[in-house]
Amino acid sequence: RAKADGRGTFCFFRDEMAQTVEARRILELDLRKALANEEFELFYQPLINLKSGKVSTCEALLRWNHPARGTVSPVDIIPVAEDMGLIVDLGRWILRKACMECMKWPEAVSVAVNFSPQQFHQRDVLSEVRYALEVSGLPAHRLEIEITESSLLHNTELTHDVLSQLRSLGVRISLDDFGTGYSSLSYLHNFPLQKVKIDRSFLEGIDSDRPLTLLRGVARLSADLGMSVVVEGIETNEQLELISADGAVTEAQGYLFSRPVPAVRIRQLLNASHGRRPDEQLHVVP
Ligand code: C2E
Ligand code: MG
Ligand code: MG
Ligand code: MG
Repeated sequence: RAKADGRGTFCFFRDEMAQTVEARRILELDLRKALANEEFELFYQPLINLKSGKVSTCEALLRWNHPARGTVSPVDIIPVAEDMGLIVDLGRWILRKACMECMKWPEAVSVAVNFSPQQFHQRDVLSEVRYALEVSGLPAHRLEIEITESSLLHNTELTHDVLSQLRSLGVRISLDDFGTGYSSLSYLHNFPLQKVKIDRSFLEGIDSDRPLTLLRGVARLSADLGMSVVVEGIETNEQLELISADGAVTEAQGYLFSRPVPAVRIRQLLNASHGRRPDEQLHVVP
């Protein structure tokens, strides 16, 4: 129990740590059961092609319907699953589920799946991907794998090989959250990447000159290197106009178009949005 003196404070601190350890243990146990109990669900958020105004891709985003806690965010799940080594099993489930869901969408729409570094660096990542495509029947060109800069930090030669092999399969690789990690611009030309997703932190202060110049610079550079360029986290029409102006940005994603929604909802949305312009579509209420 907490006491005012030094010893009491120390005890309190220890109790709190013990509680944290206990809470964490319970979370880990719950996570293990969740996969077997099918408590996980994938939400989907569209990426809009700015030229056609149509949905090009939908990103799969993990949700956990915990029996007692309610919906748990992936921000709280993924790091724990990584520490436990559960991410490989969980990632396999996510990949297969997302590929199967994409089969229910119009052919022009791809699915994007987030890979954590551990999942990306597993020895048989290639057969995992091949198998997911096989069992779902999804053509490789409709699968996009999102990795972050942290997946590109180590084993560069091996990493390069895996990326090349995935590309030979016909799968696209997208560099997620660009600008938040080490942000080495050399990643953009050293690795075979097809898409760059500029992190939404780049939108902060975008109505002033310097941030806008920075965002446009990164977008232009990526486009000149032959990559598709996405800006994440578009919430307002003003932001959309600013990023669309010089044509380097090819796609946009954000609450302005749609929040992440359940699978059933995205299916309806994809049918409804077919053929419409970005300014008249997809204002989905969460
Ligand atoms: P991410 O891959 O960068 O996904 C984008 C996140 O930004 C999503 O949060 C999405 O809901 C949110 N977002 C989209 N548009 C807007 C916007 O306009 N404004 C704001 N404020 N936020 C927006 P979410 O679903 O909570 O996912 C968070 C992160 O968790 C993801 O970031 C990704 O790193 C990770 N994650 C989610 N699902 C998976 C998964 O299946 N596997 C792995 N390895 N990681 C996942
Ligand atoms: Mg992502
Ligand atoms: Mg992202
Ligand atoms: Mg992000």
